[in-house]
Amino acid sequence: MTDTTNLGTVWVVGQRRRPNGTFPPASTGGGGGLSEDGGIQQDEIDPDRSGSDGPALDPCSNPATALDWNADAAAAEAKREFERQAAERGDDGLFSREWHAFLYEDATGRVYLGPVSAGSQGTVTPDTTGMTPDNLVGFIHNHPGGGLNPSGDDWAGFDSLYGWVAQWSSGGVSRANQLRQYIIARDTTDPNSPMAIRVFNNDSSRSSDAPAPEVNPEAQQCPPA
Ligand SMILES: [Zn+2]
Repeated sequence: MTDTTNLGTVWVVGQRRRPNGTFPPASTGGGGGLSEDGGIQQDEIDPDRSGSDGPALDPCSNPATALDWNADAAAAEAKREFERQAAERGDDGLFSREWHAFLYEDATGRVYLGPVSAGSQGTVTPDTTGMTPDNLVGFIHNHPGGGLNPSGDDWAGFDSLYGWVAQWSSGGVSRANQLRQYIIARDTTDPNSPMAIRVFNNDSSRSSDAPAPEVNPEAQQCPPA
């Protein structure tokens, strides 16, 4: 076992900032993949990615870890899409209003964004178009005024979806345990902090003081199988 294990699974899966401050490198689909210029990237394995000396496991080689990996990438994509639509409106980045999207898994295991909803400073009405108990992976929204953690209402919404997925999905409770919510916010105690993405699931502490894993804003989905 490694010394990161006691941080809980939410820290050591997906594309989260590691205890050493770095994000995991993008998966190349088992050690080899095509780079932008057509070259082969072989064996780009970070020897300390898990704090052990063993070979790094490719998160994309296992459906369970691939879902975390792809969901984090979809969250990063959502942030970019919120920012793009905010710019279209002439907003002050993500500070002018709340944005929301659900995240869904397709038949290949990739995670995609549902319809994006634009709200106001303090609220947004989610759009559930296309949602089923079996495709729902989670949801993401921003807090324009700060607030790194989910609000009470956010957790209430999460719990409602959790119960729905646990009861009606083919995977039951194990599927519900895959649900996560992402919050995009800046740390208002640090004037220079950027809008960052943080992730929470049913195992997360609901204390507002609990630090949550930060998702790589450049996260990318697993290569197509
Ligand atoms: Zn919220």
